[in-house]
Amino acid sequence: MKIQMVDLKGQYLKIKTEIDKAIHEVIDSSAFINGPAVKNFQSELENYLGAKHVIPCANGTEALQVAMMGLGLKPGDEVISTSFTFVATVEVVALLKLTPVLVDVDWDTFNISPEAIEKAITPKTKAIVPVHLFGQCADMEAIMQIAKKHNLYVIEDTCQAIGAEYIFKNGKHQKAGTIGNVGCTSFFPSKNLGCYGDGGAIFTNDDNLAKEIRSIVNHGMTVRYYHDTIGVNSRLDSIQAAILSTKLKYLNNYNESRKKAADYYDKAFSNNPKLIIPGRFENSTHVFHQYTLRLNGVDRSKLIEFLGEKGIPAMIYYPVAMHMQKAYIDPRYKEGDFPVTEKLCASVVSLPMHSELNEEQLKYITDSVLEFVNK
Ligand SMILES: *Cc1c(COP(=O)(O)O)cnc(C)c1O
Repeated sequence: MKIQMVDLKGQYLKIKTEIDKAIHEVIDSSAFINGPAVKNFQSELENYLGAKHVIPCANGTEALQVAMMGLGLKPGDEVISTSFTFVATVEVVALLKLTPVLVDVDWDTFNISPEAIEKAITPKTKAIVPVHLFGQCADMEAIMQIAKKHNLYVIEDTCQAIGAEYIFKNGKHQKAGTIGNVGCTSFFPSKNLGCYGDGGAIFTNDDNLAKEIRSIVNHGMTVRYYHDTIGVNSRLDSIQAAILSTKLKYLNNYNESRKKAADYYDKAFSNNPKLIIPGRFENSTHVFHQYTLRLNGVDRSKLIEFLGEKGIPAMIYYPVAMHMQKAYIDPRYKEGDFPVTEKLCASVVSLPMHSELNEEQLKYITDSVLEFVNK
């Protein structure tokens, strides 16, 4: 059996007719940039998220950059985020000459620790960037309280969690990315809502911020050829928008399939002392961008090699913490500063996770993992 980490072809084939039609409509119209397809997708996503404004852009990394520019963050401002994440957050903070302040994560949920955020706040702190890692919301209620108390912006990195819902203590549900001042997402092909190239979006309920961000993604321009602020060129093209409109209708089904696969994995592994299943946070639904195990006394490289020989890919997200990356070495941080992050980097392994996994494949994967760890 040959398993894929992500099965984009299988997912496409199920909706091929609709996707092909959507792409051809854009080609026929020749409205390749900022065409009606982009506006349509924007309002469909606003409805889906319950967000007042969605601003499409070129990718998730630029979504984060533009959000920080739109909030008027200035060189020297401190931005708190986690050391256990994809590089994009720290990268744009560095590019804008802001100061990244890293903090540790929670062992069970992999998400930023509110206690650690509070300890890292200084008079220079301006923003917190919680990353809803692997498809589950960070503790937004606690984070929003800290932000309010210290007058900080909250920029949600929702690149891995589109469609996930935060559940407030009063029972209210709200979509990931719509709780802080601004939310950012990516439509990279392998994300839960992926296009067939690069794409991203920024969400906000703040009218003034939306106006500012709309101008920044378009060269700092509101009236054509009059530039009021320094901007960038960051667009979602019309073909990608048409593909995303088609796929958005299936997003809840895709996320449901991922959750079913995760439930299957959980059931197979939950009683094995060598495998620690991902923790589920009671105040969030989980859309399982990744299914990530923590290994306990298992040789990780040998496990990955063993699975590889059986045609099962397994990946390490993420092998190196941000404070240990060559590009971001900083005298403020050293090995041992973020013990949970460092322990995760040494022990996590992610199994195949996508919307097309069937029971036969799941059985094969779980049997193979158990065969190795019980050897
Ligand atoms: C994918 C991802 C990004 C970047 O998105 P791109 O579209 O690839 O630029 C940022 N943050 C996280 C957590 C991601 O997973």
